[in-house]
Amino acid sequence: MSRSPRNARPVVIAGGGIGGLACALGLAQRGFRVTVLEQAQEFGELGAGIQLGPNAFHVFDALGVGGLVKRDAVFIERLLMMDGVSGEEVISIPIDAGFRRRFGNPYAVIHRADIHGALLEGCRAIPAVELRTRAKVTGFDRDNRGVSVALEGGERIAAAALVGADGLYSKVRARIVGDGDPPASGHMCYRAVLPAGDMPKALRWAAATLWAAPNTHIVHYPLRGWKLFNLVATVVRDAAMGGHNEEAAPEEVLPLFAKNCALPMRLMRTPTVFRRWMLRFRPPVPNWTDGPVTLLGDAAHPMLQYMAQGACMALEDAMCLAVATDEADGDFAAAFERYQSLRLVRTARVQLSAIMLGHLFHADGVARLVRNEIYRARTPASYHQALDWIYSAPEYVVTANPKAASRRDAAAKRTAPAKRRPAARAATRKAPAQRRAGAKRR
Ligand SMILES: Cc1cc2nc3c(=O)[nH]c(=O)nc-3n(C[C@H](O)[C@H](O)[C@H](O)COP(=O)(O)OP(=O)(O)OC[C@H]3O[C@@H](n4cnc5c(N)ncnc54)[C@H](O)[C@@H]3O)c2cc1C
Repeated sequence: MSRSPRNARPVVIAGGGIGGLACALGLAQRGFRVTVLEQAQEFGELGAGIQLGPNAFHVFDALGVGGLVKRDAVFIERLLMMDGVSGEEVISIPIDAGFRRRFGNPYAVIHRADIHGALLEGCRAIPAVELRTRAKVTGFDRDNRGVSVALEGGERIAAAALVGADGLYSKVRARIVGDGDPPASGHMCYRAVLPAGDMPKALRWAAATLWAAPNTHIVHYPLRGWKLFNLVATVVRDAAMGGHNEEAAPEEVLPLFAKNCALPMRLMRTPTVFRRWMLRFRPPVPNWTDGPVTLLGDAAHPMLQYMAQGACMALEDAMCLAVATDEADGDFAAAFERYQSLRLVRTARVQLSAIMLGHLFHADGVARLVRNEIYRARTPASYHQALDWIYSAPEYVVTANPKAASRRDAAAKRTAPAKRRPAARAATRKAPAQRRAGAKRR
């Protein structure tokens, strides 16, 4: 960026995960100076897969990295739910050309490192983004010009604002919300990434597949040009058990999934070792902002992964925060208040929906049969309709990327009388470059 930045002190972002980097990119593209502080030795992501809905791709497009992310993604054809006990198909949602047309972007599965790499590349291309590793945020204090951010080792950074994108155990959240460490949910994940050649041939499906069985579910899908398969098997266990990426032997894992039929068990017997993760969860809170300090992603609204939306929500947060900051012309306290008010209900709805979905996945006895009957009766169109609230771009993403408006929205705009929508209002405000010229430097 050649022009001078809109803020004299940087916006500090604690955490260089998917949410933190997306936020840095969104702010820098709007003329703000940003410093990302990452505690790890290097920027990077876990070696595992992730599912991305069209709502994530709308954000990638708005950030200018949609092409890069799509280059590495696998575009599966269906979202499948199988009954793990009987082996029968319960749900099959086509994510075909009709789905892409409806939502304006595809659904895909991808290696986490590929998303993170694309965002990092975007950040590195903008001089207004300073990227620091081995920089652990330990706390902050407000001052009359912004925030003084404390790092491990005693260094302090004078910032215009602070965004806590520091994940589940957020130090920034500890100061704003103060609700302690996230409680263990009792839901234990066993993860593995398999070379495609090791994947049972009968399961090499172009789908994100979920085998639902009493108290457990198993998810698998292809990755990296079909060279790998991602496997995540979850069981509800004792919440007091630990689990943070330790090795777990098949002898520990297999008995827990024994209610599944032969085909998913063939897959479960394939890895020679799993990685064990205890899932952590917090219920939604009504506030995660304090003046020019706010949270995003897992720091703000950690969720069980059953909607496959945690990273997608962190990306939407990042876009919303960047757009709100732009529109508030660098008044960070006002921008963060607006950002939170736009994001609160949507993210809480995903958090709560994920819990409910977990109950459906893990249903036993007659409840399991009722679940199957209800889902089998649904048509693909009704599934697409039911997913509309989540996969369609919210207004602030459309503001940043007008192409993200779904066909439904576009049709509504064409037929609507003169009623003005928020995105239209935003579009009629002064362009960022115009505002930048008159902006007060903070
Ligand atoms: C098994 C599983 C499967 C999932 N599947 C999906 C899926 O399919 N689709 C989906 O959208 N989501 C999925 N998720 C959720 C997703 O992984 C998270 O929601 C997402 O990674 C959150 O991103 P984030 O940037 O908010 O936090 P994080 O990814 O946790 O990043 C936080 C970063 O902050 C750094 N950090 C932490 N503390 C400090 C500090 N004090 N100072 C400086 N740096 C710090 C960390 O090192 C890290 O780099 C899944 C989660 C799990 C557990």
